Amino acid sequence: MNPVTRILTISERNPDPSIIAVASQAILEGKLVAFPTETVYGLGANALNPEAVARIFSAKGRPAEDPLIIHLASPSDLPRVTLEVPPMALLLAQEFWPGPLTLVLRRHPAVPPSVSAGLDTVAVRVPAHPVALALIQTSGVPIAAPSANLFGHSSPTTARHVWEDLSGRIDLILDGGPTPVGVESTVLDLTSSIPTILRPGGVTLEALQEIIGDVHTLKNSPLDRGKPQASPGLLGKHYAPHARLILLKMVNPTSLHQTLRRLVSDETSKGNRVGLLIASEDLPFVQDLPAKLAVIGSLDDLATVARNLYGGIRQLDQENVDLILARDFGNFGLGMAIRDRLSRASSQQITDDEQP
Ligand code: AMP
Ligand code: MG
Repeated sequence: MNPVTRILTISERNPDPSIIAVASQAILEGKLVAFPTETVYGLGANALNPEAVARIFSAKGRPAEDPLIIHLASPSDLPRVTLEVPPMALLLAQEFWPGPLTLVLRRHPAVPPSVSAGLDTVAVRVPAHPVALALIQTSGVPIAAPSANLFGHSSPTTARHVWEDLSGRIDLILDGGPTPVGVESTVLDLTSSIPTILRPGGVTLEALQEIIGDVHTLKNSPLDRGKPQASPGLLGKHYAPHARLILLKMVNPTSLHQTLRRLVSDETSKGNRVGLLIASEDLPFVQDLPAKLAVIGSLDDLATVARNLYGGIRQLDQENVDLILARDFGNFGLGMAIRDRLSRASSQQITDDEQP
């Protein structure tokens, strides 16, 4: 039977304890509660209850092979879900928690294997959001929570985005306003000999290197490829809009703007509607074009770009464009996470030396 989805509005700064009590009770009853974190909205369930965890996978249409992140209220709860807490985990926790860093550690047997897709590791973090922390603390259990969207879609940064994807599939949405970071957490594997970023996110590579020195990134991730793989399935298409998305990974602004103009003209002459996902610096060069525009921030302010990224993609989707042309924001700082998400959402990438 499908649940009726309730939405409760809650203050981001001062979460009302009576609303938190309702949500915590739902968690303890094995229900699904979407809640804001500083990154994106999460779809939470009691991580220690296998039936509740199974509901997450079915509500999202998420394949069982895709492991979930467990959210804790404090680093002192790590021994409840991990077998051991290496000194480096404590160091990173001290520096970055609460915050958008997920650590992959060895899984405690109390955590159902389904949370980790059968792996003997577990991904954990302490989120930096008063609503998330109050919910975890009051329910008293670790909360497994992937992003609160249908599998493969863009992650939700507002309660409305959650509603669009999951109404009628989950029990409760806590609406605490838009999420401040806007992209998911950085996933760092501490079980490999050298700490390895499995997914870039809200904590930058540079910030991690400053604390722990050597950090690897996954060789096979879309980050390290200029072009999509021959088989798009291997790219792990994800975070994707309904429209086709082309990522223009061009360093030279003049050739970027020329290519944007040419592609808009080609596509509109074929009767296609085009949307541009761009920086404010691009606006003077493209604002006369017959295209929908999503200006998501300045090249000098990637925090704003990250915050507006998924909202911009959803906006263009709602304007019913057939094709989204997205600019790249470089690979430094948050640029790495932004590029990762746009790469995964894209079906094609264009670089400076291969202009169409
Ligand atoms: P989501 O919560 O939907 O943003 O996705 C969770 C991310 O964490 C995915 O990229 C997972 O592959 C990753 N993840 C979760 N658990 C593990 C684990 N035990 N080992 C490696 N990656 C993990
Ligand atoms: Mg997700």
